[in-house]
Amino acid sequence: MTSPRFGPNSGRVLTAEMCARQQNSFWDRVVKSEGCWTWTGARLPITKRQKGYGTFAISALGRPVNAHRIAYALTYGEVPAGRLVMHRCDNPICVNPAHLMLGTHADNMADMDAKGRRVHANTYKTHCINGHPLSDENVRRVRTPAGSARMCRICERARLVAFNEAKQAQSAEAFDREVRSVIISALDADSARAASLRQRDLDVITRFAGYHRPCETLVEIAASYGITPERARQIRDRALRHLGVDSAVVRHRRPPKNLRAAA
Ligand SMILES: [Zn+2]
Ligand SMILES: [Zn+2]
Repeated sequence: MTSPRFGPNSGRVLTAEMCARQQNSFWDRVVKSEGCWTWTGARLPITKRQKGYGTFAISALGRPVNAHRIAYALTYGEVPAGRLVMHRCDNPICVNPAHLMLGTHADNMADMDAKGRRVHANTYKTHCINGHPLSDENVRRVRTPAGSARMCRICERARLVAFNEAKQAQSAEAFDREVRSVIISALDADSARAASLRQRDLDVITRFAGYHRPCETLVEIAASYGITPERARQIRDRALRHLGVDSAVVRHRRPPKNLRAAA
């Protein structure tokens, strides 16, 4: 299939070749949940061979590596050359280490047969892996190097929704991280002005920014005061203005409209 030394699903993944910063930047692209952990970074095209896997470039290797391989390596140790990292959950963009296992190419073929995903086995399948009927209306035919394959539209839609939700959650988090750093530099820059803040306003922004203790979300802070998260956000922004942070700075860093409603 793939040559042993090249391609994103081959070769060794050396965790030692990823510095702490790169490891953090890898996990920053992952949205965790009870079940699958969704990769929100770059993806390979959805073809028979590449399957839409997530990819991440490891600078020391000078090439991208499949995201689930990296997740496996960072959790359990190096993936030996020639071994595959397989999904128990069949979700190509899942990087939950609990859903990943080490296998060989032969294992992968046997697994695909068991799940009926190999082209010849697929022909006889009436339902997708998640039990949706593979009826004409629910099937999208895709061209693959081996001919064609049937994709379950219900599953595709569900994965797209999960992916978009994960993306949104991730940009909201990135936005919060930026506001946190603005707050911390504003507090450090002018402690006299910080001291003149109303007590609750100071509490809200220091708790949000994690100035004294680990940071908290607006939802957590709001719950402790018995106010709405929107109100907590207003207090946070009022405190920022009081600290002399140009409100435009915060406004420009505000996430897109659809995220603001959820905040
Ligand atoms: Zn999974
Ligand atoms: Zn399905």
